[in-house]
Amino acid sequence: MSSPLQLRFLTSADDVRRLPDTPPELAFIGRSNVGKSSLVNALGNRKDLARVAKAPGRTQLLNCFAVDGLGTLVDCPGYGYAAAPARVRDAWQRMVETYLLEREQLTMVVMLVDGEIGPTKLDLQMLAWLRANAVPHSVVATKHDKLKAAQRGKRQRDLAAACDLAPDDVTWVSAAKGTGKDRLLSLVRTWLALG
Ligand code: GDP
Repeated sequence: MSSPLQLRFLTSADDVRRLPDTPPELAFIGRSNVGKSSLVNALGNRKDLARVAKAPGRTQLLNCFAVDGLGTLVDCPGYGYAAAPARVRDAWQRMVETYLLEREQLTMVVMLVDGEIGPTKLDLQMLAWLRANAVPHSVVATKHDKLKAAQRGKRQRDLAAACDLAPDDVTWVSAAKGTGKDRLLSLVRTWLALG
């Protein structure tokens, strides 16, 4: 079994220019409620780590965690929050897109898709944007435990196809049950070593 990541909260920033000058970086993106905080906590074997990113005033910021000895994990604010006014959505888009395009240290964007519901329209737009801009990215499907065993294979193929990917290109995880965690931990370590 892979050991958990040693994660330590570093800082929150609202602008790519205010981020620390750190070694290789991974960004986690996804719509609100996709299970991003639960997954960051699971990767670090911590219950409360990503809560800092959800503290009032921090939900719209780039929250940085040091991954000991390897680099930085940047938890990007969740997009597509239904109640957010257009002004907030535009600000999200500007900040995150600037970050994803301009950050030289960024070695991989981990794009989370809700495994229970599949990619939303916004997820597909985000994927198309990553592809159009040649930003290195990898799709991780969350909440694997919510799929009924009998439907798993088909749901996994369908989600990959909807993202225009082969089934093996999608990493399935369950923060609740730990499924896929070892595979993702080893991918995270590989991606950070690319920097
Ligand atoms: P975030 O908004 O992307 O940070 O999402 P959260 O981590 O807060 O999760 C959103 C909701 O999905 C919460 O109610 C979590 O308990 C639930 N959730 C997250 N990961 C899993 C999972 O692996 N399995 C199940 N069953 N629920 C999950």
